[in-house]
Amino acid sequence: MRRGLSGFFWLTAYLVVIFAPLFFMLVRPIPSGRDFVTELSIALGFVGLTQMAVQFVLIARFKRVTAPYGIDLILQYHKQIAVVAILLILAHPVLLMIQQPWRLELLNPLRGNWASRFALLSVLCLLLLWGLSAFRKQIRMNYEAWRLSHLFLSVLALVSAQIHVALAGLYTNTWWKHALWIAMSAFFVGVVVWLRLIKPAQQRRQPWRVTAVRPERGETHTLALEPVGHSGFRFHPGQFAWIKVDASPYTIDEHPYSFSSSSERGGQLEFGIKELGDFSANIKNVPVGATAYVDGPHGAFSIDRYPATGYFFFAGGVGITPFMSFLHTMADRGDPRPVLLFYAGKTWEALTYREEIERLRELLDLEVVYVLEEPPEDWEPPKPRVRALGAGTYVLEPPEEAHKIEEGFVTADILRRRLPQESIHREAFICGPAPFMDAVRDALLEVGVDAEHIHMEQFDLV
Ligand SMILES: Cc1cc2nc3c(=O)[nH]c(=O)nc-3n(C[C@H](O)[C@H](O)[C@H](O)COP(=O)(O)OP(=O)(O)OC[C@H]3O[C@@H](n4cnc5c(N)ncnc54)[C@H](O)[C@@H]3O)c2cc1C
Repeated sequence: MRRGLSGFFWLTAYLVVIFAPLFFMLVRPIPSGRDFVTELSIALGFVGLTQMAVQFVLIARFKRVTAPYGIDLILQYHKQIAVVAILLILAHPVLLMIQQPWRLELLNPLRGNWASRFALLSVLCLLLLWGLSAFRKQIRMNYEAWRLSHLFLSVLALVSAQIHVALAGLYTNTWWKHALWIAMSAFFVGVVVWLRLIKPAQQRRQPWRVTAVRPERGETHTLALEPVGHSGFRFHPGQFAWIKVDASPYTIDEHPYSFSSSSERGGQLEFGIKELGDFSANIKNVPVGATAYVDGPHGAFSIDRYPATGYFFFAGGVGITPFMSFLHTMADRGDPRPVLLFYAGKTWEALTYREEIERLRELLDLEVVYVLEEPPEDWEPPKPRVRALGAGTYVLEPPEEAHKIEEGFVTADILRRRLPQESIHREAFICGPAPFMDAVRDALLEVGVDAEHIHMEQFDLV
């Protein structure tokens, strides 16, 4: 309930801020003598610009703001709403040029005035910002380079747009309206300063120490950290943190990883890191004793958030990590609720944490179905056993299986075979590669699980 209320509060605050410039436009003195299209274009520009500025707050990882929704959802919103904001901002010059075609000349920086030059600079930055974000993977732009350019271009776009507003002078024609715009810009740039300078300075005072780097199955390493000079923090199983390892707290080379350890041991953190690119491949070279910085906990993907009588977990590949945190936490809590884990991977040998999961089965009411693209060679599809009841009657009994293994990908057929019908109301959690998550969600919907009981965690935020 409290989470619902604070979610409502932040949503209302968001809408008030976005539309505030429209109210300020209505406060006298109002510039006179302009037609409806010009007024509309200015209104759209103001709303788009404020929306763009609020983006800085959305990505600043303020826990109070993100807690009701989860930062992952907010980052998805950030991506989608940026397109709307850019379209609104672009509508401003486009409408003006349709209304007064002579303004096309202002596209030439040599012909325009300073107000139009800053507008042009802002629009060019925004278009570049959008292009690099939409096509980063296609043009093979390194994630860190993209991140730096994203920060630089967005600050430049915002500052030049604010200078354009100030120089154009419309609706900033009183000292207080002028001051309000400057205060707004200063606030949003201040948020960036906080995120990039002040927060890292705080992290420097709360370092972590690498206590182990353990190789695991499936080209994965477990990175274990302990707090140095502080007591760590509490997190919910399934949450994640941005980590910087063996580097300055000011580096932009930080990466998000789900906790794989129990939330009941908040002082000790573990992450399962799969070798994918430069940062993750280098984890195995990090020496024990190296310093790390942890920005967390974040995220809303947690069994603590969705209490239920039991759970279905669906892990694809390294997407097993948040489920390890769920299982370890449930074991530490002595949680008796039944769990059915579907763990999909390429081969039996490459299933990260396989042995650990089998050990956890002894502590929990945990059933595991392994869904393998390439099952072991000696494996045969399980056949139900026929048991004679006498008098010519027979019943089919489930096959005896050392490990429950299915071949291929998770499908509705597999779920029909493996999900106990009476427990279809359990909460379902999915984490893994995007196609895996889509396939599992569709299969769950097909066998009758309500969409509101399905929760997904994306490992790809950008
Ligand atoms: C919420 C969340 C939880 C995650 N949990 C795990 C986990 O438990 N185990 C695990 O192995 N992986 C996890 N990941 C994925 C992990 O963050 C990326 O694989 C890792 O950052 C790759 O970095 P790299 O430099 O090794 O690879 P690169 O080759 O640089 O990147 C590979 C791809 O990973 C993505 N990526 C790179 N850096 C970042 C970054 N800083 N932030 C977001 N995405 C990035 C990009 O899409 C990039 O194209 C998680 C991601 C998210 C968003």
